[in-house]
Amino acid sequence: MRKILIVLLALLASPVLFAAPLSMTEVAPGVYVHHGAHEDLDEGYHGDICNIGFIVGAKGVAIIDSGGSFAVGQQLRNAVRKVTKLPILYVINTHVHPDHIFGNAAFLQDKPEFVGHANLAGAMDARGEIYLRNITTWLGDAAKGSEIVKPTQSVADTLEIDLGNRVLLLTAFPVAHTNTDITVLDRASATLWTGDLLFVERTPSLDGDINGWLAAIEKLRGVPALRAIPGHGAVVSDVSLALNDEQRYLETLLADIRAAIKEGKSMEQTMDSAAASERDHWALFNAVNRRNINLLYPKLEWE
Ligand SMILES: [Zn+2]
Repeated sequence: MRKILIVLLALLASPVLFAAPLSMTEVAPGVYVHHGAHEDLDEGYHGDICNIGFIVGAKGVAIIDSGGSFAVGQQLRNAVRKVTKLPILYVINTHVHPDHIFGNAAFLQDKPEFVGHANLAGAMDARGEIYLRNITTWLGDAAKGSEIVKPTQSVADTLEIDLGNRVLLLTAFPVAHTNTDITVLDRASATLWTGDLLFVERTPSLDGDINGWLAAIEKLRGVPALRAIPGHGAVVSDVSLALNDEQRYLETLLADIRAAIKEGKSMEQTMDSAAASERDHWALFNAVNRRNINLLYPKLEWE
C-alpha cells in the first residue's frame, strides 16, 4: 500500500505525466484565456506568468502563446482537449520571450503550423541557447521537455488564417516591445490579442525600442476591438484606457531619463528616480523599471 502511495505521489508530482488542464476563462464565444501569475523571471518563476490561450473555429483550433515550459504547454493542450476534439492547426507566438514560447514543444504531436513574426526564427537562433539555460536554472526538473520550436510560417506584414468560419488577422510590428511582436485579431468576436504590446497591471518591460512601442500603441488604438487580451494582466473591455496607462508609463520613463541625463545624473542615480511617480500603478515595479532604465539610459545618453 505504502509503495503504491509513493508511486502515486511521484506520478502526481511529475509535471509531464500529470498535466492537469490549465484553468481557462471563456472571454468570448470560443475564445479561452489562462492568466499566469505576476511573478518575475528570476525569482519565484514557475513558467506560468503570462496570458496564454486558444480560439476554436469550425475546422480547428489556434493556440496563442504556449506558456513558459513544455509542462505548461501540456497543461494548455489538455485544457483544449477538455473543450474540443478538433485538431490544433496553429500555434501562434506573439513574440520571442521565454514565458510565451517554451510550451510549443507540447504541440509538436499535433503537427500544426507554428506562426510568428518574420524576425522570430532569427531571434530564436540568437537567444535560444541562453533561454534554455535560463529556464533550466529557474525551473529545474520542471523545465524538462522544453525546447525551441521555430515558426513554420512567418508574418512579415499581415496574414489571415482561417479556423473554419473564423478568420484571424495577424499583424506584424516594427521593433517595439521586442523585434518580434505580432497581434492577433479574432474578427468574429472583435477580440484583440496584443501579446506584450499591452501590459495591464504588470510593469511594461522594454526589450526593443521605446519610440517604436509608442508608435505601436497609436496603431493599436485604430483596431476595432471590443476587448483586448494583454500579454500580462486582466482582459480589458476599455482598450484605449489600458493603452493610456501604458503610454503614460512609457512617456514618463522617457521624459524622466532624458531630464536626468540633462541634469548630469548618473545611471545609478536615475535608477531610483526615473518614472517613480508610476510606482503605485504597477506590479513588480522596482525590478522591471530598473531594467528598463538600464536599457534606455545608455541609448538616450547619445541622443
Ligand atoms: Zn514579453
